[in-house]
Amino acid sequence: MSGEVPLLRLLDVSKRFGGVLALRDVSMDVGEGELVALIGPNGAGKSTLFKVICGVIKPDSGRIYFMGRDITGLPPERICRMGIARTHQVPRPFVGMSVLENVLVPASHARGLDMRRAEDLARDILRAVGLGGKADASIGSLTLYERRMLEIARALAADPRLLLLDEPFAGLNPEEAEEALELVRKLKVERRISIIWVEHVMGLLRRTADRVVVLNQGEKIADGTFREVVHSAQVITAYLGE
Ligand code: ADP
Ligand code: MG
Repeated sequence: MSGEVPLLRLLDVSKRFGGVLALRDVSMDVGEGELVALIGPNGAGKSTLFKVICGVIKPDSGRIYFMGRDITGLPPERICRMGIARTHQVPRPFVGMSVLENVLVPASHARGLDMRRAEDLARDILRAVGLGGKADASIGSLTLYERRMLEIARALAADPRLLLLDEPFAGLNPEEAEEALELVRKLKVERRISIIWVEHVMGLLRRTADRVVVLNQGEKIADGTFREVVHSAQVITAYLGE
């Protein structure tokens, strides 16, 4: 690092669940505007890392800094208001509400906007993710692609500086995934957000990620460009051993 404060910094973060060491002394930085791919086999600790960053679970040891401030152990609402939002591996819309209401609620809640301004903002975000025409639709009428984009819209409603995406396009066909990827890349540039993007395997992100971090059994085993990471012996072994 060039001496400037990274947007996010993890220092020696560990988390144990009973006999499982889900995270073992994980340190990593995410810079302003960076898209970091976080990959690793099943059970590597990827989702746990997201939960620790968001404050949903507390690490046993280690520190987490966001914009230079120590956020370790802060409640999730505070961390969200500071500018970290995430999507869930399985989308979690409010099923009884319309598409618009699903974005309106987090927009008014996280930003403290009145309903009128929250609605303008929600409509703007829906347009940005290609759901402008679906504002009044019910959740049940959405395709999988649209549900996945709604999950991203809901995270964007909180006005994040850092967006954590947990396998955001699982189940989409390759063309849909490419299209969605292009859209997220555009959002990242236009809204100047940094992204940590969890995927099981590298495929989709190989051309897009600025950096790749590989977790295996709770441990960071590689951190670098795609080229550096695919040639790492530890990474090859981790995937072959699956
Ligand atoms: P990934 O997202 O990379 O597949 P996870 O972070 O979900 O991995 O899980 C890492 C390890 O921690 C796994 O062995 C998993 O079974 C375990 N784990 C995760 N959450 C819990 C929990 N709440 N209680 C017990 N074990 C957990
Ligand atoms: Mg996971």
